[in-house]
Amino acid sequence: IRSTAVPNVDGSVNYTEDDEEDGVDLAANSLLNKLIRQSLVESSHLVEVLQKDPSSPLYSVKTFEELRLKEELLKGIYAMGFNRPSKIQEMALPMMLAHPPQNLIAQSQSGTGKTAAFVLAMLSRVNALELFPQCLCLAPTYELALQTGRVVERMGKFCVDVQVMYAIRGNQIPRGTDITKQIVIGTPGTVLDWCFKRRLIDLTKIRVFVLDEADVMIDTQGFSDQSIRIQRALPSECQMLLFSATFEESVWQFAERIIPDPNVIKLRKEELTLNNIRQYYVLCRDRKDKYQALCNIYGGITIGQAIIFCQTPVRGIDVKQVTIVVNFDLPVNQAEEPDYETYLHRIGRTGRFGKKGLAFNMIELDKLPLLKKIQDHFNSSIKQLDPEDMDEIE
Ligand code: ADP
Repeated sequence: IRSTAVPNVDGSVNYTEDDEEDGVDLAANSLLNKLIRQSLVESSHLVEVLQKDPSSPLYSVKTFEELRLKEELLKGIYAMGFNRPSKIQEMALPMMLAHPPQNLIAQSQSGTGKTAAFVLAMLSRVNALELFPQCLCLAPTYELALQTGRVVERMGKFCVDVQVMYAIRGNQIPRGTDITKQIVIGTPGTVLDWCFKRRLIDLTKIRVFVLDEADVMIDTQGFSDQSIRIQRALPSECQMLLFSATFEESVWQFAERIIPDPNVIKLRKEELTLNNIRQYYVLCRDRKDKYQALCNIYGGITIGQAIIFCQTPVRGIDVKQVTIVVNFDLPVNQAEEPDYETYLHRIGRTGRFGKKGLAFNMIELDKLPLLKKIQDHFNSSIKQLDPEDMDEIE
């Protein structure tokens, strides 16, 4: 975890400008998001769907039962604690499980259930009795491939005869080995090697092809071309699925090159807002005074989980459960101007789902102008608080 990562309010992480110099590590960012996130990110936006054939009926499901999955797969889903499909899954799963198979390009921010959706599709389409690779999933890094593999293992816990194989660097397979595992997850370079040079995988037998983290993929030299070479060797009836957390033009161009006749599903990212946050400031003489004010807050109100931000950058923590945020120091940029974006990321919530939050700013007298600028910038009020008198808050 790089120290310049600033956690978003939904627990995901973006990198700050400092990173631009040495290149933003999108894959590390993505892995970090997976590791820290234990639950679904909810969304208040509508799912946008663009069907390849607009005249065909559009199905959505509210329960997993409606999907008529194999019993052991349904059991696996419930064992993971999933009660009902996520917003994106409601639309994506019927398309992904349709007969004949349909191709899909899906974009939604990380944590909205994309991985779970394509893992479910792979598990529902494999034939456990056939002992050769039938589903192929490309991931941008070794670690991300392993993460996806873990989801396959958890969801497929009761599909006892289905097995996963990792086509990643370092996984030495002797020449002439017959791969009997049905699901292969790997990075483009190694998969290409296994398919064409070493002939360990017969691409003509692949039924489901998944390209995950497309935005990270195209960011890595050579991966787009390697992925396209793999895709070109797949049979025409193979189902092709592409997922991405973001969708700039470059991702879109790549997606259209690699996924023929796709349906498209998009879910917009939640915007952060300060509307449902009560913001206060406490005037302090120095850091000692700030510390005292903090103790008074702890003494005065019931605090569950809290985050205290100091000038030093803070790393990826899941702040979803946090109802109180303290700015021990205000975020400023190098020009000593307020860093508005960081302020919003520290304190803001997504409008509809954010619980009511409380934010405290410890302010030395000479920093008051900064606070005033933040108020004006967001057009939101930050009230002065007497730390000896917490009645104001309760
Ligand atoms: P993405 O691939 O979009 O980042 P994931 O599939 O990894 O999202 O899902 C994010 C988190 O939500 C994971 O912890 C996953 O286990 C959980 N999750 C996914 N689908 C559901 C669901 N239908 N119900 C509850 N939790 C879910």
